[in-house]
Amino acid sequence: MTLRLYNTLSRKVEEFASRNAPKVQMFVCGPTVYDLSHLGHAKTYIQLDTLARVLKQNEYDLHYLQNVTDIDDKIITRAAEQKTDWQKLGAIFYDEYLKDMRSLNNTSVTDYAKASDYIDAIITQVVKLIEKKHAYIIKDDGVYFEIKTFPNYGKLSGRTEVKQDDAQARIDESTNKRGWNDFCLWKFSKPDEPEWDASFGAGRPGWHIEDTAITEKFFGPQYDIHGGAVDLIFPHHEAEITQMESISDKVPLVKYWIHTGFLTIDSEKMAKSAGNFYTIREVVERGYDPLAIRLFMLQSHYRSSINFTFNNLDAAKNRFHNWRNIAALRHQTHDTLQNDDEKSTDEKAVSLYATAQALVEALNDDLNTPEALTIVDDAFSRLISSRLNDIHQHALTQLLETIDEVLGLDLIKSTPDINDDCKRLIIERQHKRENKDWAASDRLRDKLEKTYGIIVRDAAAGSVWEYAV
Ligand SMILES: [Zn+2]
Repeated sequence: MTLRLYNTLSRKVEEFASRNAPKVQMFVCGPTVYDLSHLGHAKTYIQLDTLARVLKQNEYDLHYLQNVTDIDDKIITRAAEQKTDWQKLGAIFYDEYLKDMRSLNNTSVTDYAKASDYIDAIITQVVKLIEKKHAYIIKDDGVYFEIKTFPNYGKLSGRTEVKQDDAQARIDESTNKRGWNDFCLWKFSKPDEPEWDASFGAGRPGWHIEDTAITEKFFGPQYDIHGGAVDLIFPHHEAEITQMESISDKVPLVKYWIHTGFLTIDSEKMAKSAGNFYTIREVVERGYDPLAIRLFMLQSHYRSSINFTFNNLDAAKNRFHNWRNIAALRHQTHDTLQNDDEKSTDEKAVSLYATAQALVEALNDDLNTPEALTIVDDAFSRLISSRLNDIHQHALTQLLETIDEVLGLDLIKSTPDINDDCKRLIIERQHKRENKDWAASDRLRDKLEKTYGIIVRDAAAGSVWEYAV
């Protein structure tokens, strides 16, 4: 089964075919580095990291590029408030962003490109747009793109008007624009603002132009996939198409546009002013494993919105804990378990191999992660309290490898085998139980929990152990 993806540009689910197979070039709008990343960022980047993993699973040779907006109004303002310079502030929060992404296991990005490292490429694009009469200069203000020179404006979003909820830069505001929706390519510098020299006047780049300058530098004028949150479709992504297609006359800039849905908190829009704003760091500090946050975000389809509540997150945390304990079954010592008969051995192993296949097929269906997780749940529920022989354990390990590759949950890494001492204690305890020496059995159980973080449960098939929460 081939990969199928919903393309915002065509408003249809399409069979994915890269422009230059097996290579795939994917760009995703990265962070503006002036503060810690929040749960909305976690949603977007986990879901797009999963897309990257699924592309690799389909044997594509993926180049995943993210820009990092390190020069912007918000950064300049925040740096002034904190009496530091914009470069220092940007460097700090770029680093924090990378830490958060690593903790969530978003490891697929090939290159991060900081806007301030691509100023020459940005200036080159602005010069071309001025030469081709798509852009004009407003004295003491900046360089603007004139929308009326691009008849296809609106083809991605289906609209041309800015609404209140649109993610926009204040930089686009100017009373002297020719068209009310013209957007800024370059802002001439005010005193005490960072600036770069350019033939059309010293200043700093607008928001939209950094993406096209960076993608042209890495990929050329056209590439396969552009991803980002749904609130960036207009005007940001529309502006990218407008700029790059005007410069190159090559259509389309991007073959597949992929957008992720909103995240709400307790059914409300997340906002600092509403007091329902959570950074990724805060949630982790409350004791949640970042990978449980990852599982939480994958429980919903990437295009739908997610309602975050701590109750919902607790449910994902429990699900994740159960999954880890199933993952640990691949280490169960056989001393405490009896072997199954031949027929059931085959069925159990075959069903585990089939689960890995079904999981990938669900993800190939426009990244249907809720369906993929249900498939895993069904397979795992058949293993609870069951007896696994070597063949089952091998099949389970293979399934776990697939889950980790495509969903990035690190089930194998986070459930290392217990050491031989620990195994000896579990078996010793089992013998004490068989001899009805309950006091000794309880002592060994306490020792296993305190020293090794292992909880022993007595099941029908013998003693089984799991990792403490
Ligand atoms: Zn962007």
